[in-house]
Amino acid sequence: MDDSPTRFLLVYGSQTGQSQAIAEEIAERCAALNIFADIHCFGKIEKEFVLESERLVVIVVSSTGDGEPPDTVCKFWRRVKRKTLPKDHFSNMRYTLLGLGDSNYGSYCKCPHMIDDRLQELGATLFMKPGFADDAEGLEVVVEPWIEALLERLCSMFDLPLPDQGEQAVKPSSERVVEPSSERAIKPSSERVVEPFSEQVVEPSSERAVEPSSERVVEPSSERAVELSSERVVESSSGRAVEPSSERVVEPSREQVVESAKSTEFFSKDTSAADAFLAETAKSNLSLTTSDEKKEIHSLESQPSKKSLKEWVDCIPVMNEAMLTTPVTPGPYVHLNYISNTSLDNNEDMPIQNNAKLPFSCSSVVQASVLNICCLTKPKSLKKTLCVELDTAGLTDYQSGDSFSILALNSEEEVSWLLDRVKVRRPHDQVELGILSDTTRKRPSIPEFINNPSTLFEIFYKSLDIRHIPKKALLKLLSNCCSVMDERLRLLYLSSRQGADLYKREIIETRRGLLDVLHAFPSCTPSVECLIENLPRLLPRAYSVASASHASTLKFAFNVMELPSLGSLTHRKGLVTGKLDKIFETSQERSSTVGIYLRSQHHFRLPSDSSLPLILIGPGTGVAPFIGFLQDREIQMRAQVKLGECLLFFGNRHEESDYLFREELSDHLSLGTLGALHVCFSRDEQRICTTGAKYVTDLLWQQSKVLANLITKHSAIIYVCGDARNMAKDVNEALTGILKVENGYTDDEVLTVMRGLKEDKRYREDVWL
Ligand code: NAP
Repeated sequence: MDDSPTRFLLVYGSQTGQSQAIAEEIAERCAALNIFADIHCFGKIEKEFVLESERLVVIVVSSTGDGEPPDTVCKFWRRVKRKTLPKDHFSNMRYTLLGLGDSNYGSYCKCPHMIDDRLQELGATLFMKPGFADDAEGLEVVVEPWIEALLERLCSMFDLPLPDQGEQAVKPSSERVVEPSSERAIKPSSERVVEPFSEQVVEPSSERAVEPSSERVVEPSSERAVELSSERVVESSSGRAVEPSSERVVEPSREQVVESAKSTEFFSKDTSAADAFLAETAKSNLSLTTSDEKKEIHSLESQPSKKSLKEWVDCIPVMNEAMLTTPVTPGPYVHLNYISNTSLDNNEDMPIQNNAKLPFSCSSVVQASVLNICCLTKPKSLKKTLCVELDTAGLTDYQSGDSFSILALNSEEEVSWLLDRVKVRRPHDQVELGILSDTTRKRPSIPEFINNPSTLFEIFYKSLDIRHIPKKALLKLLSNCCSVMDERLRLLYLSSRQGADLYKREIIETRRGLLDVLHAFPSCTPSVECLIENLPRLLPRAYSVASASHASTLKFAFNVMELPSLGSLTHRKGLVTGKLDKIFETSQERSSTVGIYLRSQHHFRLPSDSSLPLILIGPGTGVAPFIGFLQDREIQMRAQVKLGECLLFFGNRHEESDYLFREELSDHLSLGTLGALHVCFSRDEQRICTTGAKYVTDLLWQQSKVLANLITKHSAIIYVCGDARNMAKDVNEALTGILKVENGYTDDEVLTVMRGLKEDKRYREDVWL
């Protein structure tokens, strides 16, 4: 295929799989158009492809950490940034690029922009405008139209018929292609064992969506999927194609039509995808980064659903499907075969997620014993903050300020519910996953993070993110699995272009996950294979260490994540914080362990020159890494090392219930390891009136002269830790304002100074969504 006239090189740079999932989606959709996307990971440069000999290149790349390239991109980046390369090094190359990022973070989209700029410096030319997708907005806002524009562009370059807008108007069900599963050809085993699905169930073709969101630091992390699509096949797992039961299709209300018309504006079928992409890019000022585990967990708490289950379902219009434009979805590829009747009761020896590399890992995973858990807040506090102390379990090669990931396991109750819901009768029997030989996917493979063979319970308990927020293509697949027409059409609407606003509001912003959708739509019964094909990897959760590296144990401080319950789902907590809270509540510390590994991002450490002044800003649990810093300074002080000044700014809600690490901070102040401690409490009205400070930003302004002097004249290093969404941005703004006012800078000058601080690593952030 290398000499195919429609070949181009498709390279992805993924930290947690998101860019890879999008690249795979592009390859799938190209294949459907007879375009050969020769897809490779950036890490395989020189081994599988030579960039210098490529003429047409499409790059999909994420940002991680401080805007650093993903691990797999580092080698490529080292090569191309060499100053000795001639200006025409890539003059034969035409390329385009899709960057993924998250505008909640300071170094938003930095890596894709750096690559884009550098390729142009080296003579490469763009054949299509690059896209920058912002996870904060929802990646699909940019990704979907960008891919459509790309496909159109490629078709026109290769002189092929134009694609049908990438998304398709849904045909009435009677016109659908129906493929009974009994006709599926199966590679690995002659015997296809199918769980007994109801004959009423319509199983959609699956689409390989997605991927968990990426990680971050200023710190991207989560892993999230972006699913796109490619093919439409409806099949019944019972071997019979079944039309959804006929229910009255309600004509849309006037409001619904208006809403639909509004949201179709951009996606008008008359508008070419490329125009749409350009229009959208202009509209949304695209950028990118990736999200991460931190983001995922922490953002879950922020948008509780206020609607009852029924109110939620009712707010989704039931619209004639002929009026809807929905994503195309790729075909199924997973075949499931039971290989024994015996249960696998003890899966302890199975490798963790098949030993697939974990995001940002720079150590092996160890089981650390829980030594102690204490509560840092008082019972009446709005958020419960725990401090967990773990045995280091040999993980000693770290410094204060580093972060660790703790492996997450799904709730057993939720896994059992889900497997029962999709009619799995033998969750503990051994199964083997194989590839359907008649799949339309070009390079299907069982996700590397799934042990195979395994049991379905094991797979869903340890490897798949069953709380995943479904992307539109997955919603469409789910809609095809509804036996009740009303439910089918509502889900289809949510997946459609016409339902884009509602999708954003009712799925993304309220963070309704797969389980919520299945609760709300009882006739929706996807096959277990479909879920395996479409659910992203279950990701570990990251925490900054709240103790110094010389300490004999590891400490972490975190809020227990409370998730809103929806309908019949029981009250839920974060997977890791909920587990640790349960251990705390039941006093089972001494008999518990957690899987943990050290993360590779080490930008948030004390400077090697300890005489430099430090400005530490960490409201809430953002204070955690500074506890380690101060412990390190204590050791240095005792060793008579010269220490620079150290100012700490802390804020929380109430002094009485939420003053985290109060005693430790006071001790450091007395010792002199901390020179000044500035605190504020945002919900203590009396105190705010007296001190004039509600937030840490107010405290910064109160110390503006001291800060400007330390930053400008004494090379102070600023550390910001905590909430990325609001706090970190406001702190950035406050410091910008302070430097401007105190030094008399113009707007341009102060922006240059702030940029310089970040480039010189004198403004370091460890911020989390
Ligand atoms: P938080 O939600 O950030 O609240 C701490 C204080 O900051 C409260 O008084 C809050 O006031 C105030 N605040 C709200 N908006 C602000 C703004 N724009 N500027 C300045 N202050 C503002 O604290 P948290 O609940 O402890 O959460 C801390 C964040 O840090 C979370 O996102 C967490 O994920 C992250 N984090 C966690 C770790 C870890 O290892 N566990 C490490 C680092 C960071 P009001 O609520 O009264 O508005």
